[in-house]
Amino acid sequence: MKIFKFGGASVKDADTIKNVVKVLKNEGFKNTLIVISAMGKMTNAFEKIVDAYYNNSEDLATNINSVRNFHITIIENLFEDKKQPILFELELLFGQLSGFLAINKSANYNYIYDQVVGYGELLSTKIISSYLNTIGILTKWIDVRDFIKTDVSYRNATVNWQETKVNIQILDSQNLYITQGFLGADSKGKTTTLGREGSDYTAAIFAHCLGAESVTIWKDVDGVLNADPRYFKETVLLNQISYNEAIEMAFYGASVIHPKTLKPLENKNIPLYVRSFYNLKNKGTTVGKVPNLLPETPCFILKNKQILVSITALDFSFMVEHNLSDIFKILHNYKLKVNLIQNSALSFSVCLEDKFNNFEAFLSQIVSKYNVTFVSNVALYTIRHANQKAIDLVEKKGTVLLKQSTKGTVQLIMQ
Ligand code: ASP
Ligand code: MG
Repeated sequence: MKIFKFGGASVKDADTIKNVVKVLKNEGFKNTLIVISAMGKMTNAFEKIVDAYYNNSEDLATNINSVRNFHITIIENLFEDKKQPILFELELLFGQLSGFLAINKSANYNYIYDQVVGYGELLSTKIISSYLNTIGILTKWIDVRDFIKTDVSYRNATVNWQETKVNIQILDSQNLYITQGFLGADSKGKTTTLGREGSDYTAAIFAHCLGAESVTIWKDVDGVLNADPRYFKETVLLNQISYNEAIEMAFYGASVIHPKTLKPLENKNIPLYVRSFYNLKNKGTTVGKVPNLLPETPCFILKNKQILVSITALDFSFMVEHNLSDIFKILHNYKLKVNLIQNSALSFSVCLEDKFNNFEAFLSQIVSKYNVTFVSNVALYTIRHANQKAIDLVEKKGTVLLKQSTKGTVQLIMQ
Protein backbone atom coordinates (compact mmCIF):
# COMPACT_ATOMS: atom_id res chain seq x y z
CA MET A 1 0.00 0.00 0.00
CA LYS A 2 0.92 3.64 -0.46
CA ILE A 3 0.28 6.33 2.12
CA PHE A 4 -0.44 9.93 1.06
CA LYS A 5 -0.55 12.76 3.51
CA PHE A 6 -2.15 16.12 2.76
CA GLY A 7 -1.50 18.86 5.30
CA GLY A 8 -3.60 21.92 6.10
CA ALA A 9 -2.11 24.05 3.31
CA SER A 10 -3.00 21.45 0.68
CA VAL A 11 -6.67 21.46 1.70
CA LYS A 12 -7.16 25.08 2.68
CA ASP A 13 -9.96 25.92 0.22
CA ALA A 14 -12.06 24.47 -2.60
CA ASP A 15 -9.32 25.00 -5.20
CA THR A 16 -6.64 23.16 -3.27
CA ILE A 17 -9.07 20.33 -2.56
CA LYS A 18 -9.77 20.09 -6.29
CA ASN A 19 -6.04 19.92 -6.73
CA VAL A 20 -5.99 16.84 -4.48
CA VAL A 21 -8.10 15.17 -7.17
CA LYS A 22 -5.46 16.07 -9.76
CA VAL A 23 -2.78 14.53 -7.59
CA LEU A 24 -4.79 11.33 -7.16
CA LYS A 25 -5.55 11.05 -10.87
CA ASN A 26 -1.97 11.73 -11.80
CA GLU A 27 -0.42 9.35 -9.30
CA GLY A 28 -3.07 6.66 -9.27
CA PHE A 29 -4.86 5.78 -6.08
CA LYS A 30 -5.05 2.03 -6.03
CA ASN A 31 -4.12 0.54 -2.67
CA THR A 32 -3.82 3.93 -1.08
CA LEU A 33 -4.55 5.31 2.34
CA ILE A 34 -4.84 9.08 2.62
CA VAL A 35 -4.13 10.94 5.84
CA ILE A 36 -5.51 14.48 6.01
CA SER A 37 -5.01 17.35 8.46
CA ALA A 38 -7.47 20.03 9.45
CA MET A 39 -8.10 22.53 6.67
CA GLY A 40 -5.86 25.59 6.46
CA LYS A 41 -5.30 27.11 9.87
CA MET A 42 -8.34 25.44 11.44
CA THR A 43 -6.38 23.85 14.28
CA ASN A 44 -5.43 27.34 15.46
CA ALA A 45 -9.07 28.37 15.15
CA PHE A 46 -10.16 25.39 17.26
CA GLU A 47 -7.54 26.34 19.84
CA LYS A 48 -9.31 29.68 20.15
CA ILE A 49 -12.57 27.85 20.78
CA VAL A 50 -10.89 25.85 23.54
CA ASP A 51 -9.53 29.01 25.16
CA ALA A 52 -12.84 30.84 24.94
CA TYR A 53 -14.62 27.87 26.51
CA TYR A 54 -12.01 27.41 29.20
CA ASN A 55 -12.02 31.09 30.14
CA ASN A 56 -15.77 31.42 29.95
CA SER A 57 -15.31 34.08 27.34
CA GLU A 58 -18.25 35.54 25.50
CA ASP A 59 -16.37 34.97 22.23
CA LEU A 60 -17.15 31.25 22.35
CA ALA A 61 -20.22 31.35 20.11
CA THR A 62 -18.55 33.71 17.63
CA ASN A 63 -15.47 31.51 17.44
CA ILE A 64 -17.53 28.38 16.82
CA ASN A 65 -19.55 30.18 14.20
CA SER A 66 -16.55 31.37 12.25
CA VAL A 67 -15.14 27.84 12.11
CA ARG A 68 -18.53 26.53 11.03
CA ASN A 69 -18.85 29.18 8.32
CA PHE A 70 -15.35 28.48 7.06
CA HIS A 71 -16.29 24.86 6.39
CA ILE A 72 -19.70 25.72 4.96
CA THR A 73 -18.08 28.13 2.49
CA ILE A 74 -15.73 25.38 1.34
CA ILE A 75 -18.67 23.02 0.88
CA GLU A 76 -20.57 25.70 -1.06
CA ASN A 77 -17.61 26.24 -3.37
CA LEU A 78 -16.80 22.58 -3.77
CA PHE A 79 -20.08 20.78 -4.31
CA GLU A 80 -22.22 21.71 -7.26
CA ASP A 81 -25.28 19.94 -6.03
CA LYS A 82 -25.86 17.06 -3.64
CA LYS A 83 -24.71 19.29 -0.78
CA GLN A 84 -27.38 18.13 1.63
CA PRO A 85 -25.75 14.94 2.96
CA ILE A 86 -22.44 16.64 3.75
CA LEU A 87 -24.12 19.69 5.30
CA PHE A 88 -26.05 17.27 7.45
CA GLU A 89 -22.81 15.55 8.53
CA LEU A 90 -21.29 18.92 9.34
CA GLU A 91 -24.25 19.84 11.54
CA LEU A 92 -23.93 16.48 13.24
CA LEU A 93 -20.29 17.16 14.12
CA PHE A 94 -21.02 20.68 15.36
CA GLY A 95 -23.92 19.25 17.34
CA GLN A 96 -21.56 16.76 18.97
CA LEU A 97 -19.08 19.52 19.74
CA SER A 98 -21.74 21.71 21.37
CA GLY A 99 -22.98 18.67 23.28
CA PHE A 100 -19.52 18.03 24.64
CA LEU A 101 -19.06 21.67 25.68
CA ALA A 102 -22.43 21.66 27.39
CA ILE A 103 -22.00 18.53 29.47
CA ASN A 104 -18.24 18.48 30.06
CA LYS A 105 -17.32 18.55 33.75
CA SER A 106 -13.58 18.11 33.41
CA ALA A 107 -11.31 21.04 34.23
CA ASN A 108 -8.35 19.36 32.56
CA TYR A 109 -7.33 21.82 29.84
CA ASN A 110 -5.40 19.28 27.81
CA TYR A 111 -8.27 16.81 27.85
CA ILE A 112 -10.73 19.47 26.71
CA TYR A 113 -8.27 20.62 24.06
CA ASP A 114 -8.11 17.20 22.44
CA GLN A 115 -11.87 16.65 22.53
CA VAL A 116 -12.43 19.98 20.75
CA VAL A 117 -9.48 20.40 18.40
CA GLY A 118 -9.98 16.94 16.92
CA TYR A 119 -13.06 18.20 15.07
CA GLY A 120 -10.75 19.97 12.62
CA GLU A 121 -9.59 16.66 11.19
CA LEU A 122 -13.02 15.03 11.45
CA LEU A 123 -14.55 17.84 9.38
CA SER A 124 -11.81 17.96 6.76
CA THR A 125 -11.86 14.22 6.13
CA LYS A 126 -15.67 14.05 6.03
CA ILE A 127 -15.84 16.86 3.47
CA ILE A 128 -13.05 15.57 1.25
CA SER A 129 -14.17 11.96 1.37
CA SER A 130 -17.71 12.96 0.49
CA TYR A 131 -16.50 15.24 -2.32
CA LEU A 132 -14.37 12.48 -3.85
CA ASN A 133 -17.33 10.12 -3.68
CA THR A 134 -19.59 12.58 -5.52
CA ILE A 135 -17.11 12.92 -8.37
CA GLY A 136 -16.74 9.19 -8.70
CA ILE A 137 -13.59 8.45 -6.73
CA LEU A 138 -14.92 6.00 -4.22
CA THR A 139 -13.38 6.36 -0.81
CA LYS A 140 -13.84 4.70 2.50
CA TRP A 141 -13.79 7.14 5.43
CA ILE A 142 -12.38 5.61 8.58
CA ASP A 143 -12.23 7.02 12.08
CA VAL A 144 -8.57 6.97 13.07
CA ARG A 145 -9.58 6.67 16.70
CA ASP A 146 -10.64 3.08 16.02
CA PHE A 147 -7.08 2.34 14.91
CA ILE A 148 -4.46 4.45 16.66
CA LYS A 149 -4.60 3.78 20.38
CA THR A 150 -2.67 5.90 22.83
CA ASP A 151 -2.16 6.63 26.51
CA VAL A 152 -3.92 9.54 28.22
CA SER A 153 -1.18 12.14 27.76
CA TYR A 154 -3.58 14.55 26.10
CA ARG A 155 -1.98 16.92 23.56
CA ASN A 156 1.10 14.74 23.33
CA ALA A 157 -0.13 11.19 23.43
CA THR A 158 2.14 8.15 23.20
CA VAL A 159 1.09 5.45 20.78
CA ASN A 160 0.32 1.99 22.05
CA TRP A 161 2.02 0.21 19.16
CA GLN A 162 0.86 -3.26 20.02
CA GLU A 163 -2.84 -2.46 19.94
CA THR A 164 -2.46 -0.06 17.04
CA LYS A 165 -0.75 -2.68 14.90
CA VAL A 166 -3.47 -5.24 15.50
CA ASN A 167 -6.15 -2.67 14.60
CA ILE A 168 -4.47 -1.38 11.46
CA GLN A 169 -3.65 -4.78 10.08
CA ILE A 170 -7.31 -5.54 9.43
CA LEU A 171 -7.38 -2.86 6.70
CA ASP A 172 -7.37 -4.43 3.27
CA SER A 173 -5.63 -2.91 0.35
CA GLN A 174 -8.68 -2.92 -1.93
CA ASN A 175 -10.08 0.34 -0.61
CA LEU A 176 -9.08 3.96 -1.00
CA TYR A 177 -9.11 4.92 2.66
CA ILE A 178 -9.35 8.43 4.02
CA THR A 179 -8.51 9.09 7.61
CA GLN A 180 -7.56 11.85 10.05
CA GLY A 181 -4.03 12.85 10.88
CA PHE A 182 -2.98 13.99 14.35
CA LEU A 183 -5.65 12.07 16.31
CA GLY A 184 -5.79 8.90 18.33
CA ALA A 185 -7.94 7.55 21.16
CA ASP A 186 -7.24 6.46 24.71
CA SER A 187 -8.51 3.15 26.09
CA LYS A 188 -11.88 4.73 26.87
CA GLY A 189 -12.25 5.95 23.31
CA LYS A 190 -11.65 9.61 24.19
CA THR A 191 -9.86 11.62 21.51
CA THR A 192 -6.15 12.24 22.02
CA THR A 193 -3.72 14.19 19.84
CA LEU A 194 -0.15 13.39 18.91
CA GLY A 195 1.29 16.92 19.23
CA ARG A 196 0.96 19.86 16.83
CA GLU A 197 1.89 19.04 13.25
CA GLY A 198 1.37 15.40 14.13
CA SER A 199 -0.22 14.27 10.86
CA ASP A 200 3.09 13.27 9.30
CA TYR A 201 3.54 10.97 12.26
CA THR A 202 0.08 9.48 11.65
CA ALA A 203 1.12 8.68 8.08
CA ALA A 204 4.26 6.98 9.38
CA ILE A 205 2.29 4.94 11.92
CA PHE A 206 -0.02 3.58 9.21
CA ALA A 207 2.91 2.93 6.90
CA HIS A 208 4.79 1.02 9.57
CA CYS A 209 1.83 -1.10 10.61
CA LEU A 210 0.85 -1.89 7.02
CA GLY A 211 4.40 -2.43 5.79
CA ALA A 212 3.57 0.19 3.16
CA GLU A 213 5.74 0.67 0.09
CA SER A 214 6.07 4.44 0.63
CA VAL A 215 4.76 7.58 2.30
CA THR A 216 4.27 10.76 0.29
CA ILE A 217 3.81 14.09 2.01
CA TRP A 218 2.23 16.58 -0.44
CA LYS A 219 3.31 20.15 0.16
CA ASP A 220 3.19 23.64 -1.30
CA VAL A 221 6.98 23.62 -1.69
CA ASP A 222 9.11 21.53 -4.05
CA GLY A 223 10.48 19.33 -1.31
CA VAL A 224 13.04 19.71 1.46
CA LEU A 225 15.36 22.66 0.89
CA ASN A 226 18.85 23.16 2.26
CA ALA A 227 17.81 26.39 4.00
CA ASP A 228 14.74 28.37 4.99
CA PRO A 229 13.98 30.69 2.04
CA ARG A 230 12.74 33.35 4.47
CA TYR A 231 16.32 33.81 5.66
CA PHE A 232 18.46 32.64 2.73
CA LYS A 233 18.26 34.04 -0.79
CA GLU A 234 19.57 31.02 -2.60
CA THR A 235 18.26 27.64 -1.67
CA VAL A 236 18.86 24.22 -3.12
CA LEU A 237 16.36 21.38 -3.30
CA LEU A 238 17.67 18.28 -1.58
CA ASN A 239 16.92 15.28 -3.80
CA GLN A 240 17.93 12.57 -1.38
CA ILE A 241 18.45 12.52 2.35
CA SER A 242 19.33 9.47 4.38
CA TYR A 243 17.29 8.72 7.50
CA ASN A 244 20.29 9.53 9.65
CA GLU A 245 20.98 12.82 7.95
CA ALA A 246 17.31 13.81 8.34
CA ILE A 247 17.40 12.89 12.02
CA GLU A 248 20.58 14.93 12.50
CA MET A 249 19.00 17.90 10.74
CA ALA A 250 15.94 17.67 12.96
CA PHE A 251 18.18 17.42 16.02
CA TYR A 252 19.77 20.76 15.17
CA GLY A 253 16.35 22.32 14.78
CA ALA A 254 15.37 21.87 11.16
CA SER A 255 11.61 21.69 11.06
CA VAL A 256 11.66 19.48 7.97
CA ILE A 257 10.60 16.13 9.28
CA HIS A 258 10.24 15.15 12.88
CA PRO A 259 12.40 12.22 14.12
CA LYS A 260 9.20 10.76 15.56
CA THR A 261 7.96 10.43 11.97
CA LEU A 262 11.21 9.01 10.65
CA LYS A 263 11.74 6.25 13.21
CA PRO A 264 8.79 4.02 12.27
CA LEU A 265 9.76 4.37 8.60
CA GLU A 266 13.44 3.76 9.04
CA ASN A 267 12.61 0.70 11.04
CA LYS A 268 10.94 -0.92 8.04
CA ASN A 269 12.95 0.81 5.36
CA ILE A 270 9.94 2.65 3.98
CA PRO A 271 10.91 5.65 1.84
CA LEU A 272 9.37 9.05 2.53
CA TYR A 273 8.74 11.35 -0.42
CA VAL A 274 8.19 15.06 0.08
CA ARG A 275 6.60 16.42 -3.07
CA SER A 276 4.93 19.53 -4.44
CA PHE A 277 1.20 19.23 -5.05
CA TYR A 278 1.51 21.92 -7.70
CA ASN A 279 4.44 20.57 -9.71
CA LEU A 280 3.56 16.95 -10.14
CA LYS A 281 6.42 16.39 -12.55
CA ASN A 282 8.95 17.16 -9.85
CA LYS A 283 10.27 14.23 -7.95
CA GLY A 284 10.80 16.24 -4.78
CA THR A 285 12.84 14.85 -1.93
CA THR A 286 13.33 11.22 -0.98
CA VAL A 287 14.22 10.40 2.59
CA GLY A 288 15.27 6.82 2.89
CA LYS A 289 18.04 4.30 2.68
CA VAL A 290 20.02 6.43 0.28
CA PRO A 291 23.49 7.97 0.20
CA ASN A 292 23.83 10.51 2.94
CA LEU A 293 22.85 13.67 1.07
CA LEU A 294 22.28 14.49 -2.57
CA PRO A 295 23.34 16.98 -3.77
CA GLU A 296 26.00 17.20 -1.15
CA THR A 297 25.58 20.84 -0.31
CA PRO A 298 25.82 22.81 2.92
CA CYS A 299 22.54 22.82 4.86
CA PHE A 300 21.62 25.77 7.06
CA ILE A 301 19.52 25.47 10.17
CA LEU A 302 18.57 28.63 12.01
CA LYS A 303 17.25 28.95 15.52
CA ASN A 304 16.23 32.44 16.57
CA LYS A 305 15.58 33.87 20.04
CA GLN A 306 18.44 32.11 21.75
CA ILE A 307 20.25 33.26 24.90
CA LEU A 308 24.00 32.95 25.14
CA VAL A 309 25.05 32.56 28.76
CA SER A 310 28.60 32.59 30.15
CA ILE A 311 29.19 31.21 33.59
CA THR A 312 32.34 31.38 35.72
CA ALA A 313 32.92 30.38 39.32
CA LEU A 314 32.87 33.24 41.86
CA ASP A 315 36.30 32.33 43.20
CA PHE A 316 37.84 31.82 39.74
CA SER A 317 38.17 28.11 40.33
CA PHE A 318 38.02 25.88 37.30
CA MET A 319 34.73 24.92 35.73
CA VAL A 320 34.89 21.19 36.29
CA GLU A 321 32.57 18.26 36.85
CA HIS A 322 30.88 19.29 40.07
CA ASN A 323 30.00 22.85 38.95
CA LEU A 324 28.93 21.59 35.56
CA SER A 325 26.64 18.96 36.93
CA ASP A 326 25.22 21.52 39.35
CA ILE A 327 24.51 23.93 36.46
CA PHE A 328 22.93 21.23 34.31
CA LYS A 329 20.65 20.23 37.15
CA ILE A 330 19.41 23.79 37.51
CA LEU A 331 18.98 24.16 33.74
CA HIS A 332 16.96 20.99 33.70
CA ASN A 333 14.77 22.12 36.61
CA TYR A 334 13.86 25.28 34.70
CA LYS A 335 13.23 23.38 31.46
CA LEU A 336 15.82 25.46 29.63
CA LYS A 337 16.84 23.72 26.46
CA VAL A 338 20.58 23.61 25.82
CA ASN A 339 21.42 23.92 22.14
CA LEU A 340 25.18 24.32 22.34
CA ILE A 341 27.90 24.08 24.97
CA GLN A 342 31.43 25.42 25.06
CA ASN A 343 33.71 24.90 27.97
CA SER A 344 37.11 26.34 28.86
CA ALA A 345 39.08 26.16 32.08
CA LEU A 346 37.47 29.20 33.64
CA SER A 347 34.24 29.65 31.82
CA PHE A 348 31.32 27.66 30.59
CA SER A 349 29.09 28.96 27.80
CA VAL A 350 25.67 27.63 26.86
CA CYS A 351 23.22 28.61 24.20
CA LEU A 352 19.72 28.32 25.64
CA GLU A 353 16.16 28.33 24.49
CA ASP A 354 13.67 29.63 27.02
CA LYS A 355 10.38 28.11 25.84
CA PHE A 356 8.65 28.37 29.18
CA ASN A 357 9.77 31.84 30.28
CA ASN A 358 11.91 30.55 33.10
CA PHE A 359 15.16 32.33 32.35
CA GLU A 360 14.81 35.00 35.02
CA ALA A 361 14.00 32.49 37.71
CA PHE A 362 17.01 30.46 36.59
CA LEU A 363 19.24 33.55 36.81
CA SER A 364 18.08 34.45 40.28
CA GLN A 365 18.96 31.00 41.52
CA ILE A 366 22.34 30.79 39.83
CA VAL A 367 23.80 34.26 40.57
CA SER A 368 24.38 33.42 44.21
CA LYS A 369 26.88 30.74 43.18
CA TYR A 370 28.40 31.93 39.91
CA ASN A 371 29.30 34.97 37.86
CA VAL A 372 26.86 35.08 35.02
CA THR A 373 26.75 37.22 31.91
CA PHE A 374 24.36 36.75 29.06
CA VAL A 375 23.27 38.09 25.68
CA SER A 376 19.66 37.52 24.74
CA ASN A 377 17.98 37.37 21.36
CA VAL A 378 20.90 35.87 19.49
CA ALA A 379 20.66 33.50 16.54
CA LEU A 380 22.15 30.03 16.39
CA TYR A 381 23.13 28.88 12.91
CA THR A 382 24.08 25.30 12.31
CA ILE A 383 25.73 24.41 9.03
CA ARG A 384 25.83 20.73 8.14
CA HIS A 385 28.35 19.80 5.44
CA ALA A 386 29.91 23.19 5.96
CA ASN A 387 32.48 24.73 3.67
CA GLN A 388 34.22 28.10 3.82
CA LYS A 389 31.76 29.76 1.48
CA ALA A 390 28.84 28.68 3.65
CA ILE A 391 30.56 29.90 6.80
CA ASP A 392 31.31 33.27 5.16
CA LEU A 393 27.68 33.61 4.18
CA VAL A 394 26.53 33.24 7.78
CA GLU A 395 29.31 35.38 9.21
CA LYS A 396 28.10 38.24 7.02
CA LYS A 397 24.79 38.23 8.85
CA GLY A 398 26.15 39.96 11.94
CA THR A 399 28.73 39.64 14.67
CA VAL A 400 30.02 36.21 15.57
CA LEU A 401 29.80 35.68 19.32
CA LEU A 402 30.84 32.06 19.32
CA LYS A 403 31.87 29.51 16.77
CA GLN A 404 32.25 25.78 17.12
CA SER A 405 33.02 23.11 14.66
CA THR A 406 32.79 19.33 14.81
CA LYS A 407 33.15 16.92 11.92
CA GLY A 408 31.77 19.08 9.13
CA THR A 409 29.11 20.67 11.31
CA VAL A 410 29.80 24.30 12.15
CA GLN A 411 27.70 26.25 14.63
CA LEU A 412 27.76 30.00 14.96
CA ILE A 413 26.07 32.19 17.51
CA MET A 414 25.36 35.52 15.86
CA GLN A 415 24.17 38.86 17.09
N1 ASP B 1 -3.84 19.92 12.21
C1 ASP B 1 -2.78 19.63 13.14
C2 ASP B 1 -1.93 20.87 13.36
O1 ASP B 1 -2.10 21.85 12.65
C3 ASP B 1 -1.95 18.48 12.71
C4 ASP B 1 -1.14 18.69 11.45
O2 ASP B 1 -1.42 19.61 10.67
O3 ASP B 1 -0.20 17.93 11.21
O4 ASP B 1 -1.10 20.86 14.21
MG1 MG C 1 -2.50 21.45 10.43
